[in-house]
Amino acid sequence: MDWIFPPSCAGCGATGLRFCPSCAAQVMRINQDQVCRFCGTPLSTPAEDACSQCQNTPLVLHGVRSWALYQEPLRKAIQSLKYHRNLALGDYFAPDLLHVLLSQHWSIDLVIPVPLSPARQRQRGYNQASVLARPIALALQKPLVSRGLKKCRETPSQVGRSASERWENVQGAFEADPQYVTGRSVLLIDDVFTTGATLNACAEALLAAGASATYGLTLARAISHADDQL
Ligand SMILES: [Zn+2]
Ligand SMILES: [Zn+2]
Repeated sequence: MDWIFPPSCAGCGATGLRFCPSCAAQVMRINQDQVCRFCGTPLSTPAEDACSQCQNTPLVLHGVRSWALYQEPLRKAIQSLKYHRNLALGDYFAPDLLHVLLSQHWSIDLVIPVPLSPARQRQRGYNQASVLARPIALALQKPLVSRGLKKCRETPSQVGRSASERWENVQGAFEADPQYVTGRSVLLIDDVFTTGATLNACAEALLAAGASATYGLTLARAISHADDQL
């Protein structure tokens, strides 16, 4: 199929590959040896081990990591995955996500993508987080259990909101099904970590339903400006 309809690079548009070597080389990978040990945000010095946000209001997740910064050309690729049905990028980025995940030695029982609301899912036709989560679950040989977590309330888009608005916006928006998650250690997958509000709301729902632990893995990490922080 690639011969009949050659792909174009999701970063720069060049014909031939889904993400070309020149774009891949420009991705700002996060040095996993120099991140907050709780939320995975990059730190300026390796000596600190928790970021200021985790020192004040830690996430309920046991650990979160992201592969790279949410900057061009990765940003464009994620938008192409999210809004233009570029589903092949899930498989393309799976080895990068897996590499970060396997360096963490987390004990995982099942994988759950951060859900969209039913209305958003119908409108888009797919969930970009599932597209990323499916190859990870396959590689780990763990079940992908999308039905274990639902978004039960429509929330306005998080885009353009301040950190505190993002936290309020998703509070109580998710519901987990104890049938699937009780006593289980859950890996949540999403495309972008911005403030952690969405992952945290998902993890709260999972823990309320009896999950034994929650971890988060995202492809990208948006680094907010100081005035956006709580
Ligand atoms: Zn490119
Ligand atoms: Zn942190």
